[in-house]
Amino acid sequence: MDYQGLLHEVMAEALRGHGRGRVADYIPALAVADPTAFGMAIATVDGEVYGAGDWEQPFSIQSVSKLFSLALALAEGGEQLWQGVGREPSGNPYNSLVQLESESGIPRNPFINAGAIVVTDRLLELTGNAGTAVRDFLRAESRNETLDIDESVAASEALHGHRNAALAHFIASYGNLRNPVDSVLLHYYAHCALAASCRDMALAGLFLARHGIRADGSRLLTRSEAKRVNAVLLTCGTYDAAGQFAFRVGLPGKSGVGGGILAVLPGRGAVCVWSPPLDATGNSVLGVAALDALTTATGWSVF
Ligand code: GLU
Repeated sequence: MDYQGLLHEVMAEALRGHGRGRVADYIPALAVADPTAFGMAIATVDGEVYGAGDWEQPFSIQSVSKLFSLALALAEGGEQLWQGVGREPSGNPYNSLVQLESESGIPRNPFINAGAIVVTDRLLELTGNAGTAVRDFLRAESRNETLDIDESVAASEALHGHRNAALAHFIASYGNLRNPVDSVLLHYYAHCALAASCRDMALAGLFLARHGIRADGSRLLTRSEAKRVNAVLLTCGTYDAAGQFAFRVGLPGKSGVGGGILAVLPGRGAVCVWSPPLDATGNSVLGVAALDALTTATGWSVF
């Protein structure tokens, strides 16, 4: 397979849609992202990495971090995580409050903000520092020791994160947080504010393509746990457009409002694409188009 040629073809195809979408502006630190930036990388289970465009430029990974906090919380604490968070698609926006009351403070899934806040709480309890736990995992898997939390993004989240604070307090009122709300939120903002490139993220996502095995050959998740994380990614990983994403792309994936999407090709590799302008559901317009073009050209799918 000529991965390099393929990436260039896919990028050219995706860039035809240029000019659509809007860069996230809910915090000032994200609103300054370059709307013309575009990067894409593929990492294979054989250890090869290919990239196109701005694939080595760090971007704010935002909710893509939720896939790693989930995997680490499962690895450290096991299945009891699922007592505090569900695994059904929400059908509501990622930062919605409405379901929490009728569902007694148990968020629908680990990838909406409410669910990710619960996962961060458990990871904080298990490791003592959820932000650096995710950072250190990404550093190890990408072999990039410079990968770090962008403190200005984390501070901007904390300053403007009234809705996340509301979600966290609401969950706490049902007894579903084990750490103080302020501390959980700081760790949640920290892992969302990690800056990493498409190269780093494709490499970091490979453990799911290897059914739970890390870059150093050790096992993070059992095969069954890795399958389950991939299943939740497919059904809940792209906000309330997960059905549309499965329809167009056919791979488990996680998006973030920084414009990144990480998708997994079980047994074969991982692909990360980044383009900041988002559609109305919060997914990168060109990112989804590029993954659509990639899977259409190659036939890659879990189906
Ligand atoms: N830190 C962002 C928030 O909590 C993450 C949003 C996202 O990427 O979905 O609003």
